[in-house]
Amino acid sequence: MKKAVLATANPGKLREIRQLLSGLPLALSAQSEHGLSGADEVGATFIENALLKARHAAAATGLAAIADDSGLEVDILGGAPGIHSARYAGPGAGDADNRAKLMRALAAAGGEGEGEAGGKKFPARFRCVAVFLPAAMHPAPLVAEGVWHGFVRARAEGEGGFGYDPVFFVPQKNCTAAQLSAADKNQLSHRARAFGELKQRLAAAGAILSSP
Ligand code: IMP
Repeated sequence: MKKAVLATANPGKLREIRQLLSGLPLALSAQSEHGLSGADEVGATFIENALLKARHAAAATGLAAIADDSGLEVDILGGAPGIHSARYAGPGAGDADNRAKLMRALAAAGGEGEGEAGGKKFPARFRCVAVFLPAAMHPAPLVAEGVWHGFVRARAEGEGGFGYDPVFFVPQKNCTAAQLSAADKNQLSHRARAFGELKQRLAAAGAILSSP
């Protein structure tokens, strides 16, 4: 089976990506199993950052690498936090710090949103770019993108998922992303869409998976 390293240190993402890629003839390891820490995310776009992460992991391990870069885009904030979602509240910020900063930014933006106080909803989307890089210097990575439209709101609910999930309202399920089962989130999410497409491309490019 072809070996590939998953270039993320985020346990929430690792869990979801392993599930999303199940069924492919790939033996996946996490970058932490190779003693690797993450690449510096100095790109200006999701795709640049996804490729930086994958190339870093592939160069250090000599394996194929899979990475994603993702984030939350809020319309009233001009698309912020976007590529800065993981460290929105500053270096070393955790999920709760980032959500608190998001709520301060929404209050400062003073938007009306839809609905009553606390439940006011602001149009937003999660975006994910997923890449498969066969080798560090390979010139033709496979790339796929997925978007998940919803709303952010001040009232946090739910214990599942990670990151901004407790404040991301999913209209078709009438609950937050953190209230979805893992299986439901992996049907609907930006990551599910990006990795679903990446999986199809990998299956179509059979030679990549059958090479050592
Ligand atoms: P990355 O590791 O640079 O791609 O950072 C992605 C950041 O975007 C995460 O740390 C979260 O803050 C946010 N994010 C991405 N995907 C999700 C998701 O599925 N749920 C909640 N937050 C997410």
